[in-house]
Amino acid sequence: MKIVVLDGYTENPGDLSWEGLEALGSLTVYDRTPADKVAERIGDAQAVYTNKTPITAETIRQCPGMKFIGVLATGYNVIDTAAAKEQGVVVSNIPTYGTDAVAQYAMALLLELCHHVGEHSDCVKAGEWTHNQDWCFWKHPLVELAGKNFGVIGFGRIGQRTAQIAQAFGMKILAFDEYPNKALETENCRYVSLDQLLAQSDVISLHCPLFPSTQGIINKDTIAKMKDGVKILNTSRGPLIVEEDLKEALNSGKVSGAAVDVVSSEPIREDNPLLGAKNMIITPHIAWAPRESRQRLMDIAVDNLRRFVDGKPQNVVNR
Ligand code: NAD
Repeated sequence: MKIVVLDGYTENPGDLSWEGLEALGSLTVYDRTPADKVAERIGDAQAVYTNKTPITAETIRQCPGMKFIGVLATGYNVIDTAAAKEQGVVVSNIPTYGTDAVAQYAMALLLELCHHVGEHSDCVKAGEWTHNQDWCFWKHPLVELAGKNFGVIGFGRIGQRTAQIAQAFGMKILAFDEYPNKALETENCRYVSLDQLLAQSDVISLHCPLFPSTQGIINKDTIAKMKDGVKILNTSRGPLIVEEDLKEALNSGKVSGAAVDVVSSEPIREDNPLLGAKNMIITPHIAWAPRESRQRLMDIAVDNLRRFVDGKPQNVVNR
């Protein structure tokens, strides 16, 4: 069996091994593939992996030998799954691999907003402490989390795990989810309406998927309902936030700080409004990327193909 990986670099920049896939066939791994080379590189391969490289209906028609598409990610919107189904191509994704990593990262963003560890360290190395007239100094108001309300929009796997860590800091959880599971409620963790969450949270963390119903869920109207000085975290998907509206709220001080790992268009565009906003931290979509979670992703990706070959495909998203 010929196996082609179209864009393997972000999953495995060199610190993992492709040997699991090599054991299943003749493997070609491309770091990246431009749109006009996709069909040519797939050629007559039976199994194809993509992370973010689109596989269109046209490509699927041009590559009749292709029988399996493995997504090296959870989201599979880059693939025309309906066209794949029509041609009998099985599409398998990785439903979960990075819950702990993303939850940990959301808290890293929050701690950075509270303490600005990186910036303070840079100041010390630049000599500011050496030449300071006092024995300590800080550049921003420092924030204690204990007793504050942590609002979670989308109380699924990552939202719940993030909430557990926030509770370890002494925070109280306000959860909003389209499908509440009352069994998850405790004294310090309860479901509320979206309006209650907006009005009562000191920190709001986004963990819902990107759907038409959640696109732009953080906008000027919802921000107006928030507490003055609220902090906002986004480790889910960029388009959940209307970035121009968040920028205005940051610059006016309504939102005292925001930290996002995802933006509306990735890589970030030069004219993204958040780049110029006050008290804004932006990282390049890395919450998923600790080696441990990429290894888990690799293991499941290999298992998906092995199960397909055995005639028992799993994690199929286009049945
Ligand atoms: P999940 O499916 O376990 O949880 C999502 C939750 O959102 C569910 O409980 C669902 O009921 C809820 N939800 C659905 N529609 C909603 C709505 N309209 N309003 C409120 N809640 C709604 O998913 P997960 O594993 O927790 O992942 C959450 C998101 O994290 C993913 O959708 C993905 O966008 C993002 N993610 C980001 C990274 C990263 O590297 N930054 C990595 C993995 C996942």
